[in-house]
Amino acid sequence: MELKLVTNQKIAHKRVFLRVDYNVPLRKIAHDFKVVDDARIRRSLKTLQFLIENKSTVIIATHLGRPKGHFQANLSTKPLAESLAKIVQRQVVFCPALKFSELKTCIDQAPPGSLIMMENLRFFPGEELNDQKWARQLASLADVYINEAFSTAHRKHASIIGLPQYLPAFAGFGFNEEVNQLSQLISRPKRPFVVIVGGAKISDKVAAVKNLTKIANIVLVGGGVANNFLAADGYNTANSYLQEKKTVNGQKSNYIPFAKNLLRQTKRRRFLKDGYIPLPKIVYPTDVVAAKSLTAHTKKIIQLYSQDEKHQLDDHLMYLDIGPKTIKLFREIILGAGTVFWNGPMGVFENDAFATGTREIAQAIAKSSAYTVVGGGDTLAAVDKFGLSHRFDYISAAGGAALDFLSGKMLPGVKPLVREN
Ligand code: ADP
Ligand code: MG
Repeated sequence: MELKLVTNQKIAHKRVFLRVDYNVPLRKIAHDFKVVDDARIRRSLKTLQFLIENKSTVIIATHLGRPKGHFQANLSTKPLAESLAKIVQRQVVFCPALKFSELKTCIDQAPPGSLIMMENLRFFPGEELNDQKWARQLASLADVYINEAFSTAHRKHASIIGLPQYLPAFAGFGFNEEVNQLSQLISRPKRPFVVIVGGAKISDKVAAVKNLTKIANIVLVGGGVANNFLAADGYNTANSYLQEKKTVNGQKSNYIPFAKNLLRQTKRRRFLKDGYIPLPKIVYPTDVVAAKSLTAHTKKIIQLYSQDEKHQLDDHLMYLDIGPKTIKLFREIILGAGTVFWNGPMGVFENDAFATGTREIAQAIAKSSAYTVVGGGDTLAAVDKFGLSHRFDYISAAGGAALDFLSGKMLPGVKPLVREN
């Protein structure tokens, strides 16, 4: 898949509507809000520099939080404008307008070549509804549309799918890079391709896991997600976390049937590696670290294959990390990989007592000579905590959009940017 990219001629001295994702954490200091972490802002710099060099007038637009169509003082984009101004060392005109006519006046008054930040897109009721009048109004402000917000490409909002109907539309450099990286995983991964899934929110991951299971040579499952696979294979998971599934009729359900199905479908598939007995395609922990609460300090290692443990397990125990044997097995598989994709911590890494699995797996991926891609909000927080963020080939900050892309879906925000031949 090739995306439409901007060229100098298309944007020089033009007005560009730049959709970014500056949905960053803010903190209130005295009376002002300040940006706590500007990583997402920095991701748009390559595109911004290109626009600055070409003397474009740039209307920068982002969402921030979930204000649901109303002004909310703590979700104003003003601190983002200030943070961006510091980073690019130029003035950023902030337009506080909440009415289209006022927004237009503010933009018209800014000198050509300005960087202009408009208010939070989600203050405007038309944004999330993809209201066509709102989309046309926004489009009337610019000559060209650039999307630099891959992380919201799974949303059918006006600034994502409405605007490109009315303006020549292009992918920003960061957007294009994200699509290239993720495409490579699902189309031509260097083998063996090892996928590692963990974390708690299996609901977000089922579609991606299903698709990646078809593509990968082996899928290693840890964290809370592994509990579903253990339960599916008949292990006692005691009081371990199993995410509930929302059903239409309000009945309680979970993801154990999903895990069961996937295990059944892959039953005859085997991963062969030197020195191993053939491994199943989906590998879940053989031992776990268990405790009675997330904040506990006393812990116990449980061998899942021991029959004793199967029958004499304390009902209050929760599986909170992968055990040492599992770490060893996962490490060896990772070190022999050609490509690794990792999403989801291996345990409750926020508590040092249950951080070992996540740290060791992160270190193994960092050490591996494989091509390594890491994604997921909490996974990135974990690698940051361990100081390993710069040890991977690609870090995806796109969360839900990346998982949707890896499930093989054409994202609504990507579609209008695909180059037709
Ligand atoms: P990501 O944001 O990287 O996609 P998730 O949001 O799915 O990851 O899950 C992250 C959370 O999963 C972390 O807060 C971590 O504490 C939790 N977690 C990991 N392993 C377990 C477990 N065995 N039981 C309960 N929670 C877990
Ligand atoms: Mg998360």
